[in-house]
Amino acid sequence: MAKKSKIRTPIVCVMGHVDHGKTSLLDKIRGSSVVSTEAGAITQHIGATLVPLDAITHMSGALSKVSVNVPGLLFIDTPGHHAFTTLRARGGALADMAIVVVDINEGFRPQTIEALQILRNYKTPFVIAANKIDRIHGWRVQKDQPFNKTFAQQNERVQGILETKVYELVGKLSDLGFNSERFDRVSDFARNICIVPTSALTGEGIPDILMVLVGLAQRYMTESLKVSADGPGAGTVLEVKEERGLGMTLDLILYDGTLAVGDEIVVAGNEEIIETKVRSLLKPRPMKEILIEERFERVRSVTAAAGIKVAAPKLDGVIAGSPLRVVRGPNRDEVVEQVRHEVQDIQVTLSDLGIIIRADTIGALEALSKELEGHQIQVMRAAVGPVTRHDVIEAGTIKDPLYSAILAFNTPVLPDAIDTLADASMSHVSIFEGGVIYQLIDDYVEWRDAKKQELERQRFEKLIMPAKIRILPDCVFRQSNPAVVGVRVLGGKLQSDVDLILTNGKKIGHLKQIQAKNETVHEVDAGREVAISIEGPTVGRQIDVGDDLYVDIPERHVKVIEREMLDLLNPSMREILEEFTYLKRREDPFWGK
Ligand code: GDP
Repeated sequence: MAKKSKIRTPIVCVMGHVDHGKTSLLDKIRGSSVVSTEAGAITQHIGATLVPLDAITHMSGALSKVSVNVPGLLFIDTPGHHAFTTLRARGGALADMAIVVVDINEGFRPQTIEALQILRNYKTPFVIAANKIDRIHGWRVQKDQPFNKTFAQQNERVQGILETKVYELVGKLSDLGFNSERFDRVSDFARNICIVPTSALTGEGIPDILMVLVGLAQRYMTESLKVSADGPGAGTVLEVKEERGLGMTLDLILYDGTLAVGDEIVVAGNEEIIETKVRSLLKPRPMKEILIEERFERVRSVTAAAGIKVAAPKLDGVIAGSPLRVVRGPNRDEVVEQVRHEVQDIQVTLSDLGIIIRADTIGALEALSKELEGHQIQVMRAAVGPVTRHDVIEAGTIKDPLYSAILAFNTPVLPDAIDTLADASMSHVSIFEGGVIYQLIDDYVEWRDAKKQELERQRFEKLIMPAKIRILPDCVFRQSNPAVVGVRVLGGKLQSDVDLILTNGKKIGHLKQIQAKNETVHEVDAGREVAISIEGPTVGRQIDVGDDLYVDIPERHVKVIEREMLDLLNPSMREILEEFTYLKRREDPFWGK
């Protein structure tokens, strides 16, 4: 029978860059069925695989010198960062340890580095699987053998290449602030990260990586792995699924205590905390019994750590990533509070002005918001679940258009949200979807910066620009109403629909139209000669041939230009602006300031 206190199975997550071999490694571990008959079976759990200690020591062929009381390893079947950050337990990561897979021939890639950063943030111990050693040219495969056995069989050249590649990884890790060494040279697990050369294809090095994980857990985690075996169960919901004949079910990783049929449980729903009672607990049926009709095998109870399917009434609306707690004894209210607290305790800082974020689980939402915080991107609302119509409308009414965006991380956009987005009044709203946080953020930032530039350009275009012109001789086409004269643009940029003043500051009228080569244009640059119509003055009275005129820039435009847009002005425009403000400030030194 279960003892009062025991060391539970540590939970392991596999991470690393795409295509470096995460799935293959998990498959290899799962499929190590050779040993499963005599030495403790590797069992498939819901969402996880249990590798018992016996199987590990048997595979490695050598019993560890330290006495081991870690019962085995529970691998989460879903590899990747997302699984790691999403699956939380008591505010931290659910996984106790991790394997970071890196293709030894390719070295570190962006997601390798991201995995390391995440693990550092969570202070999670890990090992590096330097994978695909069988791809080294000239490698002689020793199927499923521990590393030292297979390494001894390689010729010197191949050994040399492997050494070099391992040292490249050591160097890379050192750049990132980690000390590391090939695992068989590491004596202090606390100081050095172990690099285990592996092949997920041939199984070489797999026994070693399992042994190193056991060693890590044994030496550095036994305190945190101590659980009360018969205490009330605590777990994390992996997935919420409807199953034929069972109704709504929860796929759960139980990381503490025991969960039994009939137990009262508390989980977090979309809207409220749900209290219900376990109707049945289900495990996947072993492969050899596949002919039996029911896919699942019913069990009375499970003890941590384990992956189990829970069927119960009232599970609609439970959120993936939610904590699950068993109520035992009179502490019901306390347990409800705990669950509520864990869910509400999402570390998302919200602002009055910001984007809207959505994710499939609580942990994912938190991970996304942490990254956004790092990028100084404000979030106005954060919620679990698909993007709704309401989200789109809300994003559309945000005052600052740079925040009219929704980031959907691993979660779909509902059809009515897509319909709403198609509405002309929502054309300024954008939704960014994806399963990689960094990509999502990059996409948003790119969109935001482009929009910012566009807005700035529009604003700039509305401003009246400095210009100085001279009325040319022999080009008076009309005396007045309006006066039409030929001018040269001496400097700046001349636009139509502006007021003009003389160089002594006297107002003379409104420039209505500009004609260049018999065509009406809106603006012309310095150096050009054009005809302009001016409402107000009569040539020969208020203005005359040879007069120089400035565009009369309104004071508030000067303010904006001088404060924010000076670098958008070309040298000629700047020069004229200086002349113009000098003229204005002769009378009032604070004009336009
Ligand atoms: P993931 O994206 O990290 O899960 O990578 P996969 O496990 O899907 O592997 C990507 C590809 O690399 C597949 O074609 C695998 O068969 C191959 N692969 C993975 N591990 C190894 C290995 O150790 N040796 C060799 N030769 N190929 C491997």
